[in-house]
Amino acid sequence: MLKFKVLLLICVVFSTGLQLANSQVPKKLTSGEIYQQMEKLGFLGSVLYVAAHPDDENTRLISYLANDKKAHTTYLSLTRGDGGQNLIGPEISEWLGVMRTQELLMARSVDNGHQMFTRANDFGYSKNAEETIKIWDTEKVKADVVRAIRTTRPDVIINRFDHRTSGETHGHHTASGQLSYELFEKAADPTVYPNQLPRLSTWQPRRLFFNTSWWFYGSEEKFKKADKSALMSMDVGVFFPLLGKSNTEIAAESRSKHKCQGFGATGTRGLQMEYLELLKGDLPPGKSDIFEGINTTWSRVPNGASIQALVDDLLKNYKFTDPSTSIPALIDLYKKVQKTGDPFWKEIKSKEIVSLIAACSGLFLEARTNIHKLTPGETFPLEIELINRAEVQMELTNIKAEGIQLDTIWTATLTPNEDIKWNTQRTVNLNIPNTAPYWLTQKGSLGTYYVEDQNMIGKPESDRNLKVFFTINILGNPFTFEKNVVYKYNSPENGETYRPLEIVPPLTVNVKEAVYVFAANKPKEVSVQVHAWAKDQQGSVVLPMPKGWTVTPDKFDFSFKEKGENKSFVFTVTPTSTPEEIDVTPIIHANDKTYTDAMINIQYDHIPYQTVLMKAEAKFSRLNIQTAAHRVAYVAGAGDEIPTSLRQIGCTVEIIKPEDISEEKLSTFQTLILGVRAYNTEENLKYKQAMIFDFVKKGGTVVVQYNVSNGLVTKELAPYPLTLSRNRVTVEEAEMRFLAPDHAVVNTPNKLTSKDFEGWVQERGLYFPSEWDKAFVPIFSCNDPGETPLDGSLLVAQYGEGYYIYTGLSFFRELPAGVSGAYRLFANLISLGHDSKP
Ligand SMILES: [Zn+2]
Repeated sequence: MLKFKVLLLICVVFSTGLQLANSQVPKKLTSGEIYQQMEKLGFLGSVLYVAAHPDDENTRLISYLANDKKAHTTYLSLTRGDGGQNLIGPEISEWLGVMRTQELLMARSVDNGHQMFTRANDFGYSKNAEETIKIWDTEKVKADVVRAIRTTRPDVIINRFDHRTSGETHGHHTASGQLSYELFEKAADPTVYPNQLPRLSTWQPRRLFFNTSWWFYGSEEKFKKADKSALMSMDVGVFFPLLGKSNTEIAAESRSKHKCQGFGATGTRGLQMEYLELLKGDLPPGKSDIFEGINTTWSRVPNGASIQALVDDLLKNYKFTDPSTSIPALIDLYKKVQKTGDPFWKEIKSKEIVSLIAACSGLFLEARTNIHKLTPGETFPLEIELINRAEVQMELTNIKAEGIQLDTIWTATLTPNEDIKWNTQRTVNLNIPNTAPYWLTQKGSLGTYYVEDQNMIGKPESDRNLKVFFTINILGNPFTFEKNVVYKYNSPENGETYRPLEIVPPLTVNVKEAVYVFAANKPKEVSVQVHAWAKDQQGSVVLPMPKGWTVTPDKFDFSFKEKGENKSFVFTVTPTSTPEEIDVTPIIHANDKTYTDAMINIQYDHIPYQTVLMKAEAKFSRLNIQTAAHRVAYVAGAGDEIPTSLRQIGCTVEIIKPEDISEEKLSTFQTLILGVRAYNTEENLKYKQAMIFDFVKKGGTVVVQYNVSNGLVTKELAPYPLTLSRNRVTVEEAEMRFLAPDHAVVNTPNKLTSKDFEGWVQERGLYFPSEWDKAFVPIFSCNDPGETPLDGSLLVAQYGEGYYIYTGLSFFRELPAGVSGAYRLFANLISLGHDSKP
């Protein structure tokens, strides 16, 4: 369960081979989309959808509520999904959370929902809600759920997961349902989290539902037969002629933004039922409209009653061929809304109206630069562009900017369709904060992120620090439009390309590897890269070491003339003589300051470019380890870092493709390792099993890491019968009982004790075999708290002269994390049957 420490190979310099798609292009609404947004102005209902991870949310229902019911619809994902897998790149843990946050935001921009998070951390798989709650800092997560309710003031809350079925799905899932259920009344209680008041006010939602589906019934067949008379039901397969798509097609587009999980979805058309079970509040008599009986018109807010008629007129008079004719009515509506007495709806509807005024007039406002990373004090070129594309009178009266000292009273008439450009040089304020994900700037706990600024809690991402505010008089009424300064360039391949503008420190430092394993007293080279983001940077970089460790040289001096220059410096580190694990952070001294931030760039086509700043850190692990296997072959499966880890302890590892396996090839190695899920991903292995077994027979050692039981390429995984299961042990501290204490794998060349199972990360292992031939010797027994012991985590069988080993233990997680006991055990596995001479 324990979250990975920072494991990603940190890389600052990116080749520019990857082109960015326009995931940042400002939305420009068509006439039909404008009308759809206008319809929203007349609906004052809010709904909060609650689940645990990015991808849990039902995009069909979210899109239906936002686009058909016109409700203010928010998805509260308790976590950012750090613990998941990344199918499209190397990012894991925190960086995966950054990616998945952006994927959710892209999904919401498709389905018109809003996005919120809590501080809860996705620490990895957990079997039940009780375990989840124990690891999360529950008080903080509860406070954040209450905060989300008070922020979005939902009439209706919908849970994705059943709060009554702990143990039947991921513990995070059930916990999300339980927290929502428990806190339904609490947001209304002023004594609960009073520190959130008065910035927010108390709120009592009217109804709580569970969004059930066939999945919760075990099969579509069972769900079809189930009595659904007590459930709410609605057809979410509606067609939107203004958009040319059905709701379910939009939902598929939204879901397809979850690329790092491989959740691309194909749109469907026609009837699509959704079912809701009432958990709290009153059941709407018609059982089809979640807002039935709730006043969702303007008469629900003080001084609002007369507004509904204005919205009706606005829609009635809308001219699809010229939306700008609606501008006077929108301005009138805006003024009336300012006089209403409900700050929540006033803010939401005012924003919607202002963006509609801009859309109706084709108003284009942009502040851009041609540099993507700026440092405090840097002077840069800023280009401002404005154009009004409607026959409506507009005067620019003021341009003001945050972070670059710009406050210009500038009167200019925005003549219809006349483009205005203004080029200037501006200097970034010295005290401007860096742009980085706010939840990662300080170290949190296993269960929750640490967030210093309470006002940021719940927000999907950090605010940008360079913004321009345009004040424009439209038909004599002042409106202020806010725009982030963007980095924009023309890509020969993709054309107009946007990217967020970053504020970064003048110097960053990255350690090449996240983990260095010292298997002996031999020194190792540690490469540290210094990167200048401002010109004329001089200073030095050191690698401070604790007592017992030595590093040469003491420091490296550097001098960079140009912004963007970087250089790697290689320190030689000699470890202490006894086993020890240390965390090391390089320090830059320059400009009378110290800098310790590493920069990680995340670049994909489908999300905005992300720059993460975090303290640079590497783990140095001095092991007491020996191995008797020096010539090792490795066949990759779904991908793991085992070869890199084994090279760190002095093994020669050759990566071979399944198709290249031959008797001759194998005979040059002592040991063959199969990467995780190799028998799920490598079709060719089924033709090579006979050769692999023959290699064992003649004295070779084969180590097979976990495979999932579904979709194996061969039925004959091992030379003896072996049945895989979904058994796993997720508690990484679970006791490891030695079933075969005298077996060579726990004694030679490294004598293992229970100490070797301390400090494991995330889990013990997964997909353990449940049945095996008596030729196999089970080595350990372990289980999660309160569960039956599992003996299949490591099975060893002698076959002919050699050994066949099958293990579900999570070496693919432990070795890259530098876990010393896992290294010692793995060294024993690959050494089995070989003497210590190379
Ligand atoms: Zn989930």
